[in-house]
Amino acid sequence: MRVIYIAGTSHSGSTLLDLMLNANPAIFSAGEVLKLNRQLGINHPRKQNSAPCSCGAPSLWQCPVWSRVDARTRETVGKSLTDLDMLDYGETDAGKAPNALVFKAIADVTGKNFVVDSSKLPKRLAYLMQLEELDVYPVHIVRDPKGQINSVTRKHGGFLKHIFRYELIHEQIRRALKSVPHSVVHYEDLVRDPAGTLASILQPLGLSFDPRQLAWAEAEKHEVAGNHVRFDAKSELVLDEGWRESLSPLRQRAIDIGTLMSRQTLPKTGAVR
Ligand SMILES: [Zn+2]
Repeated sequence: MRVIYIAGTSHSGSTLLDLMLNANPAIFSAGEVLKLNRQLGINHPRKQNSAPCSCGAPSLWQCPVWSRVDARTRETVGKSLTDLDMLDYGETDAGKAPNALVFKAIADVTGKNFVVDSSKLPKRLAYLMQLEELDVYPVHIVRDPKGQINSVTRKHGGFLKHIFRYELIHEQIRRALKSVPHSVVHYEDLVRDPAGTLASILQPLGLSFDPRQLAWAEAEKHEVAGNHVRFDAKSELVLDEGWRESLSPLRQRAIDIGTLMSRQTLPKTGAVR
């Protein structure tokens, strides 16, 4: 079993990529696995109720797949999903690797050899890569900084901190992936040329692009957390370039200067060996 880990900043199209990968018959996308416990309604002070699944089940407990994953971990290690903390990066429960147990249970239940985790966080990427039980293939998603920063600023406010964060996160991912085979995907390429871009990710995994991936919204899906696009019923690809209208020339210049390093160093879409 291989874990395809999508790393990047928020607001970079990671949920869209996750859905498009999931529509390949060889792949099951689990969504943002780091939020599994929170989405189950546990281990989070502000969230006491289970969140809906992308399949339409009102809670993960009522989803046919996640309820079976829970049954599977009970059966194999005697622990419910509620006892397996996805944020346990070996600091509190060293050696037990709850993440490895859950990925294995997902693969057993779905019968798929490729499981996507679109958690994005570089820290989680680094942790999963060092787990002996997992074979991780990283996919680094990159969005044009003007698009990403405009989008995240519109939702959360702030401006300069997001320029800093853009540089920091991409640098952390680049450092984690130094001399590790992986794929780089630019969001703009994914939207403009989905078939070619998906093929470039799948080829190093020994998989081929499947035309059904262009109908990702209609595929069976069970992602945990992520952008609202996961509930869309229609597969529509629209390049979000709202920054052209919303960002002042001064802000555009500030982003150009602040993200110079990543713009010069991040590879183009394709496999990196
Ligand atoms: Zn579901």
